[in-house]
Parts: sequence; C-alpha cells; structure tokens
Amino acid sequence: MNIFINAMLFLIGLCLGSFVNMLGYRTAINYKLLKRPKTKTQRPNDNRSYCDFCGKQLSWYENVPIVSWLVLRGKTKCCHKKLPAEYPLVELAMGILFSLQSTNFNLQSIIFLVMIVLLVFSLVFDLKYMILPDFSTYILIVIAAIFFHNWLSGLGAGLFLLALHVGTKGRGLGMGDVKLALFMGLLLGWPKIILAFYIAFVAGAIVGVTLMVLKKANRKTMVPFGPFLIGGTLVSWWFGDLIIKSVKLFL
Ligand SMILES: [Zn+2]
Repeated sequence: MNIFINAMLFLIGLCLGSFVNMLGYRTAINYKLLKRPKTKTQRPNDNRSYCDFCGKQLSWYENVPIVSWLVLRGKTKCCHKKLPAEYPLVELAMGILFSLQSTNFNLQSIIFLVMIVLLVFSLVFDLKYMILPDFSTYILIVIAAIFFHNWLSGLGAGLFLLALHVGTKGRGLGMGDVKLALFMGLLLGWPKIILAFYIAFVAGAIVGVTLMVLKKANRKTMVPFGPFLIGGTLVSWWFGDLIIKSVKLFL
C-alpha cells in the first residue's frame, strides 16, 4: 500500500515539476528575461500548452513530463528548437523529492510539499537568471511565519545576511538571499539554522574554488548563492536532528 502511495507521489511530483518549468518560463517573461513568442493567433493564456518558441498549440503527447522530452529527443516537434535538459531534470527531481516524503500524511508533510515546489522553483530560477523571485520567497515567509514561527532565528538569520549584503556592497549576496534567510530562520529555528548556513557557506566555497580551479570562473564571476541556501535548508530540515546529535557526540 505504501509503495502505491509513493508511486502516486512520484507522479504528482512529475506533474508539479512541469508546473515549476511553466512557472519559471512565465516568470522569466514577466521579468523581461525572455521574449514572448510571436504568434498569429491570440493566445488565451501563457501555459505550457503552447510552444515556447513558435507559440504553436501543443498536443497532449508533447506535454507528458520526461516522456515527451525523451520521445522528441529534446527538440520541439513544431519548430525543432532545442528544449533545455533542465525541463526533464526538474520533473525527475520533483518526482523523487515527492516520492521520498513520508506517507503518514499530516499537516506538516503537506505544507512541506508546497514548500518544495516553491524552493525548487526558486533554486532553478536563481541558477538560470541569478534572481530569487520575490513572490516565491514571500509565500515561503508567510507559510513559515504561520506554521513554524521561529521569530528570533528568522530575524537573526535575516539580519546576519543583511550585514553580509551591506558588508560586501551587494557583490556577494543579493537582497533576495537576505529575504530567503528570513524564511530559513522562521522555518528551521535554532540551532538548525546555523547548520543550514554552515552547509550553504561550505558548499558555496567548495563549488566556487572548484570553478576557479577549472577556470570556469574568476574572482569577478557571480555565482548565485540561493541554490546553496536552499540546499542547506533542505539538508538541515531532513537530517538536522541527526547531524546535530552526531556532532555533539564528538564535542
Ligand atoms: Zn515550436
């Protein structure tokens, strides 16, 4: 029975992965980071039922998560433009993240599924465009404020990153990261927020140095920090108790 529920969660995750891709596309157009495709016919709305490139209406089999991308070999059927590999990857990642959820549903696990959708969206958007969209972070802040209310660590985390933002004159961290830190503190509370920051800064440093060694980056290259903060949040949320307990054993 549980396996059946996990399989259903996987499928729901796949479909919400498609939703995340569509949301990223629409947000990029709203932020004027992408051009709206020109079409002869007036489009009723901007959902993914229309080709990103030529605006042609898609048939159902061009819109099945992962499968369509594989069958069409990563190209649109109508105009043979390359479809980014990030589409099926996001769908797969969402399917896996959803299927790993515990199947004894309670309010907290359902809230967390909603947060995963927003966090994956923010992570992918920040990787691609170096922006953490405000609307996504604001929804996360409201959810965390209502259900987790760790006010002190929220305030502390936000102020800490604000100090870094001001101290680095905005070169290291953006205001998007500061707002995300407020959410992280509200959600995680003390001491898990410290663990989340620790993971984010260490992982960020390792990736930064690796990129420099591989000559894919230099000191001036901007690397988005949001994905590290979000990764740290998820690890601390899932394994925080375990990690903190093990660390205490060694101290
Ligand atoms: Zn097309």
